[in-house]
Amino acid sequence: MGRKYCQECREVVETKVLGEYSQVELRGIVAKRRRIKHVEEDGGCGFEWFTLELPEDVLLESREG
Ligand SMILES: [Zn+2]
Repeated sequence: MGRKYCQECREVVETKVLGEYSQVELRGIVAKRRRIKHVEEDGGCGFEWFTLELPEDVLLESREG
């Protein structure tokens, strides 16, 4: 569980992570991919989406270049 922004409801809501996270590589950057759901049990809309978690260093480096 965690509070995240739901694009359907357009507000920060209580969400659930579905399944195990996986790792994806994008242009040489390894990111952590999670499937998130705004759970209906808690009165949510049931919308599902994915998040990518990146190390901050990766983004800061690319901004300098
Ligand atoms: Zn929602």
